[in-house]
Amino acid sequence: MSLHNFRTIYFKLTQSVTNMSNNESCLFCEIVRGEIQASVIFEDKFTMAFMDIFPISKGHCLLIPKQHYVNMLDVDVKIAKRLGARLVELNRKVHSAFEPDGIINVIANGVGAGQEVPHLHIHVIPRNKGDRFGFMFPDDYREEMAPRDELDGVAETIRASTDLLGSK
Ligand SMILES: [Zn+2]
Repeated sequence: MSLHNFRTIYFKLTQSVTNMSNNESCLFCEIVRGEIQASVIFEDKFTMAFMDIFPISKGHCLLIPKQHYVNMLDVDVKIAKRLGARLVELNRKVHSAFEPDGIINVIANGVGAGQEVPHLHIHVIPRNKGDRFGFMFPDDYREEMAPRDELDGVAETIRASTDLLGSK
């Protein structure tokens, strides 16, 4: 391969990677581009894992796609599959490193769900007894089990709806 060809291919490769983090004002895209410091655990062509800067517990980290997707509602399914595989790996590594009592994974989809950075990210949060982290539930939670016909109806509504890819 001539030097010229090598340069052309190298340029195309770096361009394609650069274009993945394509939202100029996005905090996580800036991390992917190396413009903001992060404590990176691992990265590959499509995904990156790094430490949360406000850790709830020791080992609290984030997994993101390098390409800018807002959340689960717009992410490419192929990228989601890669994230899923890396998420398994990240949970196991965090478990091996710190042996917490448990690990919780959280994805907030949308501001209404508490999403603060509009770039898809999965929290991997080690949990330990007495860590005072948890979900908040309504006061009447679990007072009454939902009737089966109501649950069947809701399941049918979801089953019959179209996802954002246009498929049922
Ligand atoms: Zn982004």
